[in-house]
Amino acid sequence: MNNYIELHKEYKANSLFGRYITLKHIEPLLFDLKTMVVGESVLGKPIYKYIIGSGKTKIFIWSQMHGNESTTTKALFDFFNVLHSDNGIGEVLLENFTFCFLPMVNPDGAELYTRENANRVDLNRDALNLSQPESIALRQTFNDFQPDFCYNLHDQRTIFGAGTTGNVATVSFLAPSFNEAREINQVRSKAMSLIVAMNNELQNHIPNQVARFDDSYNANCIGDTFQSLNVPTILFEAGHYKDDYYREYSRKMIFIALLSGLYYLSENDIVDNENEHYLQIPQNKIVFYDFIYRNVKINYDTKEIITNFAAQYKEELVDKKIQFNAYIVEIGELKGVYAHYQYNAHKMLYSDNDDSNPKINQKATFKLGNITIINGVKV
Ligand SMILES: [Zn+2]
Repeated sequence: MNNYIELHKEYKANSLFGRYITLKHIEPLLFDLKTMVVGESVLGKPIYKYIIGSGKTKIFIWSQMHGNESTTTKALFDFFNVLHSDNGIGEVLLENFTFCFLPMVNPDGAELYTRENANRVDLNRDALNLSQPESIALRQTFNDFQPDFCYNLHDQRTIFGAGTTGNVATVSFLAPSFNEAREINQVRSKAMSLIVAMNNELQNHIPNQVARFDDSYNANCIGDTFQSLNVPTILFEAGHYKDDYYREYSRKMIFIALLSGLYYLSENDIVDNENEHYLQIPQNKIVFYDFIYRNVKINYDTKEIITNFAAQYKEELVDKKIQFNAYIVEIGELKGVYAHYQYNAHKMLYSDNDDSNPKINQKATFKLGNITIINGVKV
């Protein structure tokens, strides 16, 4: 048994921290490695490729095609440190696999902290059009490398739960569909088996906090396209964990998923009879807010009523730092939904600088009776 928690402690790339990870952060770590530039972003930034290993199974892994989704990039650099170490598991992986990495597909989006590239195109909806230089670089690398497996690494928002039981989805996976009917063939089934192997390990660390992403087919999505080209492809989504807005804990979980899945693959011929176990993983559901305030008295149309409302952080890039700014996003019954922070106002009156009536899109700074809430949080 590998102790993945210890491995992460030992090999974590400590210079990478938090949510804002750009080329400037990763270039010093790439400097010593034999990388190649496979293309340029819209704004002329390099897209790096890194190949390592001598095994016969080829694994293609790319991260941060959505610029503001940096957690898996951090986990990749932790993983690189294992590969570069003299630790036995790193040696096993390099003997069994040849890896091709694109650690930052969308360097402009990373810098701007946007999902899209500098032309405001979502690169994960550009798999057929290939209208953007970043999409072309990714596709060209796929064509040249001819992988046996593809790993498509992302972050998901704090809004997702693992099913509807109130557990947050700290990691979600998907074996994307290759057709509208969402059929399961051998290719997709291989991806499912590998997800089951990773889920088995993750359950030791985050029980009931692993979910399965929606499998509606969309040929514009890169994973669906690669799956339809007969390469087993897995979508990874790093999600929220309690109090972990910097995504350092979910980074560790992605590291464990990468290592445990690949280790499994090095020891086992991947079989395609794990579909049922895959389908037992709960579905990724939108059921969370960052904040919910319940039993709040408000003044609506001169009438006092008791209601609930929710607030959500927006991540805003200010002076090269990410600010988490909370805004009111929903007012009403709020049934069947959960929050990462929940307050019971016990019928105390809501008030802000204007009146006693919370409004959508206003900042979550207000009073409940004489309790002060600033940026979502009780002070
Ligand atoms: Zn994404």
